[in-house]
Amino acid sequence: MSRRPIHDVAIVGAGMVGAALALDLAQRGFDVALIESRAPAPWRGEDEIDLRVVALASSSVDLFARLDVWTAISAARASAYRRMRVWDALAPGELDFDAADEGAAALGYIVESRLIQSVLWQAAQRNPEITLRCPARVVATEVDSDRRTLVFDDDSRLAARLVVAADGAESALRELVGIKTHDRDYAQRAIVAHVATERPHEGTAWQRFLPGATIAFLPLADGRSSIVWSVPDAQASRLLALDDAAFRAELGAAFDFRLGAITATTQRAAFPLRLRLAERYIAPRFATVGDAAHVVHPLAGQGVNLGLRDVSELVTALTAARDAKRDFAAEYTLRPFERRRHSDNALSAYAFDAIQRTFGSDLVALATLRGFGLAAVDRIGPLKRIFARHAAGI
Ligand SMILES: Cc1cc2nc3c(=O)[nH]c(=O)nc-3n(C[C@H](O)[C@H](O)[C@H](O)COP(=O)(O)OP(=O)(O)OC[C@H]3O[C@@H](n4cnc5c(N)ncnc54)[C@H](O)[C@@H]3O)c2cc1C
Repeated sequence: MSRRPIHDVAIVGAGMVGAALALDLAQRGFDVALIESRAPAPWRGEDEIDLRVVALASSSVDLFARLDVWTAISAARASAYRRMRVWDALAPGELDFDAADEGAAALGYIVESRLIQSVLWQAAQRNPEITLRCPARVVATEVDSDRRTLVFDDDSRLAARLVVAADGAESALRELVGIKTHDRDYAQRAIVAHVATERPHEGTAWQRFLPGATIAFLPLADGRSSIVWSVPDAQASRLLALDDAAFRAELGAAFDFRLGAITATTQRAAFPLRLRLAERYIAPRFATVGDAAHVVHPLAGQGVNLGLRDVSELVTALTAARDAKRDFAAEYTLRPFERRRHSDNALSAYAFDAIQRTFGSDLVALATLRGFGLAAVDRIGPLKRIFARHAAGI
């Protein structure tokens, strides 16, 4: 535990993004404070697979490997997916990505969010360069020329050269600093559940577009699939109220019985969907990363992958400045990080948004166009490679 009066970096929020940032900085010799309102629930292998899973792109897996946590995560429970198949209910044509075409063993891995958080949290607890404060709630922040101070609800204070908000979509710290967001409510909810199917998932991530909806089936390690079914609010309320047999029947039909009948389902949960983009990522002695900076539609399964790319970019910028004996929290250090990540995240967010609008429409002209688009992308090798490499985070 550090006894320095001013930490190098204080990170608020120990979700997947904040905890990864803390470990990466600590490994490079930064003195880090990691502040979390509640410790992650412990993960246990004998528990049912948690409903919140993420599709980790290979760039995220590479980061976790570098942080020395991937072995623990993959040994606990992770499911590789080697293929991705995308098709549309209203038009012919299908996209088929195969890891083999990239010379890779997998396109990515399906992992429970809680498992990742729990492994990262334990690694942070073991790291002597990281001071953990949990539970803790920040109520104010003040900035001076050489530091930013966080004020907690018990009136205690903590100062750092740089403070990073990684406290998720509802980021209280981003608001305290006065950064506004651009928001759009999709008026949709994502229904998640784990389902068993008549036929095996073949280690494939499946995605079907329907008018106003998308369904993803992500392969789980035990042979079931984790579904993410994004539908308009009213349809979500109706689907959530169905009994299991009726839900399975509707899901099977909506998924075109691609894996046969749905033979079993867990309980269902639902998450409201919206687009939220922070106007700025930096302020004096402040930066923001992960969902605190950008919340995107889950149809491409990229939310945490974008957040982990923020981590790599910020760590590179801070390390280069420190090694060059420059102020690593100065605006001139943070500005290039903001420029790069803001544009990459906004581009991704609006691309997912455009896909959601185009494929969500039931206009016949659009249906023809997107059928042509899917078939064309699948046939044009270089274009398909671009899509596949982007999805895999290469
Ligand atoms: C249905 C659904 C499916 C998804 N699927 C995928 C997928 O397949 N792939 C993918 O990449 N992404 C996916 N996502 C997105 C992904 O879950 C998020 O992008 C990711 O969880 C964001 O991580 P984070 O660490 O930035 O924020 P969070 O996970 O929200 O973590 C924030 C942390 O900050 C803490 N905190 C909050 N407020 C405070 C405070 N005031 N003080 C201190 N601590 C605080 C919280 O307790 C939490 O630990 C999906 C999202 C949804 C809704």
